[in-house]
Amino acid sequence: MLTYGTVVVGGGIAGVSVAAELAREGDVLLVEAEAELARHTTGRSAASYIPGHGDAPARALVAASRARFDALAEEAGHAFLRPRPVLHVAHDADEERVLREEVLPLDTVDELTVGEALAYWPALRPEGLRAAGLVPDAQDADPIGLHQHFRRALRARGGEIRTGTPVTVLTTTSTGWRVGLGDEHVDADLVVLAAGAWTDRLLALAGAVPLGLHPLRRTIAIARVPDGAPVRRDDPFVVSAGERWYAKPEGEHLLVSPSEETPADPGDPRPDELDVATALERVNAVTTLGLRSVVTSWTGLRTFAPDRSLVVGDRPEHPGLHLFAGQGGSGIETAPAAAALAAAVIRGQDPPTDVAVALGDHGVGVGAVLARRLPSPGGPAAPRR
Ligand SMILES: Cc1cc2nc3c(=O)[nH]c(=O)nc-3n(C[C@H](O)[C@H](O)[C@H](O)COP(=O)(O)OP(=O)(O)OC[C@H]3O[C@@H](n4cnc5c(N)ncnc54)[C@H](O)[C@@H]3O)c2cc1C
Repeated sequence: MLTYGTVVVGGGIAGVSVAAELAREGDVLLVEAEAELARHTTGRSAASYIPGHGDAPARALVAASRARFDALAEEAGHAFLRPRPVLHVAHDADEERVLREEVLPLDTVDELTVGEALAYWPALRPEGLRAAGLVPDAQDADPIGLHQHFRRALRARGGEIRTGTPVTVLTTTSTGWRVGLGDEHVDADLVVLAAGAWTDRLLALAGAVPLGLHPLRRTIAIARVPDGAPVRRDDPFVVSAGERWYAKPEGEHLLVSPSEETPADPGDPRPDELDVATALERVNAVTTLGLRSVVTSWTGLRTFAPDRSLVVGDRPEHPGLHLFAGQGGSGIETAPAAAALAAAVIRGQDPPTDVAVALGDHGVGVGAVLARRLPSPGGPAAPRR
């Protein structure tokens, strides 16, 4: 029977990134249920890196990831980020309140006049636009390139990958964990659950209390741009301040989303025609684009903890069983720093200095992030941003 230092469960960006980090100092097996890696949420994102996005720990991890993205680009010989500013727009009183109270105070966002916003995205109708802000340092990310880079790094460091191998059993042994893989099993000192939407199910499989990690659907459609419509390839990524829609160029087309958050079971969701129609309708309502048809569409699952913050750490009652989950809508943009943080926490080491400095009071210390993230029954709901 095979024995590993660490078995990482899940072959999306979370699994490969933390496995690659762990393989710097030990032997690692990555197991993925599907025949290929990155088939689920990782392959379905909007591919953006937005300074200031998410809750405070996510914002810190996005910031700390910037230099790490550059270092990875140096290793790979090609970039994983390409500049594309984000334009936040507010079209009613509620959106203007969100923009002024939650978005503009961020030091990554500059306030724009309505005229300036229209110059950034000429497709906007001037009427109804109340306020706007720009994130000049936002970028398009390359999630699949980044995933491939982590996968290569994992292999180069001696790590193994097994696809088409769902974990079906997780039990303790006298020294660690036995991981059932269909007809066979492997033993490991440590198991890391990095299985996105499925992470709570794996916790239950291991006999641990689930954390309340819940998948929420989000749909993206690639819309045809009608002839003569004012769309340029270097237009910004435009986001409604109330998170009702977003849009950005995708080659000659326009990527649009209704930004829905519909609860779903873990699985392989397909787009609902109504969500696609809603995305076109919301973008058409504030622009002169007249979008009517789509080239393709897809739906992915963004998985959140009850307080919507990243979960990194373990639980004292299940030694050796670690979590790296709840990346929500930030799993790509936080991956370089979050994986380094998770690997340090799993090894029982201090977080890397750059990540610790960026996090400040937001979860530095072994297990601290998870300790703060445990659901508190009856506690107040967490704010969305
Ligand atoms: C529409 C949309 C837009 C997004 N836009 C952005 C964005 O612009 N920027 C950004 O940073 N993030 C974005 N995200 C979020 C980002 O895509 C996710 O945070 C990230 O991909 C999550 O990665 P993961 O590895 O946790 O999950 P996944 O990619 O879903 O990987 C989990 C893996 O675990 C495997 N697994 C499950 N059960 C088992 C088992 N029993 N045994 C073995 N393997 C198992 C699954 O098969 C799967 O491959 C977006 C997400 C969506 C849906």
